[in-house]
Amino acid sequence: MNYCKYHPVAPATYACHHCSVTLCDNCIDEGKHGEQSKCFTCEREVESLGSVNQAEPFWNRFDKAFRYPLNTQSLIIIIVLSLLTSVVTYVPYGFLIYIVLTGTLLKYSFSCLQETANGMMKAPDIIAAEGDSSSLLWKLFVMAVIVAGSIGFVSNYLGTAIAILLSGVLVITLPATFIIFVMNDSVLAAINPLNQIKLINSIGLPYALLLCIIMIMFASIGVIEEAMWGNFSFLSRTLQSMASNYYTIVLFHIMGYMLFQYQGNLGFTAREDHGERKTARTGPVRTLAKIKITVKEGRYDQAVKLFSRAVKEYPNNDTLNREFFKFLLATKNTPQINKFASVYLWFLEKNQQSYKLMMSYKQLLRENANYALNSPELSFAIAKACEENGDPHSVVQLIKGFHKDFPDYEELIPAYELMANTLNELPNMSKQTKQSRDYVTHLKQKQKTPEKVELSQDKARFGREAGDLTPKQSELELSLVPNKDSA
Ligand SMILES: [Zn+2]
Ligand SMILES: [Zn+2]
Repeated sequence: MNYCKYHPVAPATYACHHCSVTLCDNCIDEGKHGEQSKCFTCEREVESLGSVNQAEPFWNRFDKAFRYPLNTQSLIIIIVLSLLTSVVTYVPYGFLIYIVLTGTLLKYSFSCLQETANGMMKAPDIIAAEGDSSSLLWKLFVMAVIVAGSIGFVSNYLGTAIAILLSGVLVITLPATFIIFVMNDSVLAAINPLNQIKLINSIGLPYALLLCIIMIMFASIGVIEEAMWGNFSFLSRTLQSMASNYYTIVLFHIMGYMLFQYQGNLGFTAREDHGERKTARTGPVRTLAKIKITVKEGRYDQAVKLFSRAVKEYPNNDTLNREFFKFLLATKNTPQINKFASVYLWFLEKNQQSYKLMMSYKQLLRENANYALNSPELSFAIAKACEENGDPHSVVQLIKGFHKDFPDYEELIPAYELMANTLNELPNMSKQTKQSRDYVTHLKQKQKTPEKVELSQDKARFGREAGDLTPKQSELELSLVPNKDSA
């Protein structure tokens, strides 16, 4: 059994011969619409390993095999065909109708084999038994003629004993004949003894198990006959016919499953499907799968490139943003952290993930104690997140330098109001609380006289440019000391 190179406990479903790796479903690029199977690393086609590594052995699922025909469609076929088979015995030339009925059952059984071999574990619809069955029946008829002819030939020229032996061999190889017939849709391939030996050899001992099941099934039909002995009625015939139709469908399903299970050895590929449609993963999920392989290969620079491209392409994708941030922290990629961290923090703020916003900011500080946000909007947003999530100390840390660093910030008043309220909740902070409140009052007063404020701001700006501090500016420099006006 092979496993995925990147998921050591996942059975491999694909192989990239260029990279010499086996991969699971997650680790290949199925394209936008699931139209391809390519290697994420070399972008070449990968080979499907089918379900060789995944299929449950058929002897572990006998219960499922016997439940296979227990659905409305299959049961209708079994019951209707059985009733008609019993009726036609009372009809003149009934055997002609009997051939048609047998043909219908065979057609349906072969489609069960086919569908199961392709990984479809649900019985096909009745439609599978309708339609043009002449080609299939014609081929089966040719096969039967060849088999009967060769037995007759052997009996004539080599003696009865050898003919009986040949018949025994033909019975034993019958399931193999059917399986090969479905695989190749060719009578010649199906009756070729070399193909049969190869198939039986590939399956091995379980093939004998299949023969045992067939014998048990036939014996059980005999039991019905015995139970009804001397009472050869319509009911007995119908019951026998129902049992044999039911067993036929189960058997063809088991044969199909053998083909499915041994598909790797038999040079046939299919995947399991329990009736639900397989859909391609979304762009972000596929991109992330590719990035994970790149990371596991240790190609971190390439991973950064892929991540950067991905978060630009899917700016609202939570997983991609979070994984990129995690990756940058884990690899301590400071230049990239400085580029991406604020984008990520804004992303969290926009998506109202306040707890994550606070935690991510703290993570940044743990990695780099000097990490600076350089944006009053973001600092204030994080401060609010810290306040919501019960971390007053961070609120104070984030806002305390605003008046110095961002004197023109529009939200200074709400920011310092938040700070004052937070300080108020903390013990032994009454002085600082008052300072903040005074500062808020000061800012509000300034707001009431807009012309004057503008003038003073102009002055401040001018002052700064001139390398000189105006009175207003120096007042702001007195971090949080109440000024004369508001005192
Ligand atoms: Zn994998
Ligand atoms: Zn490859």
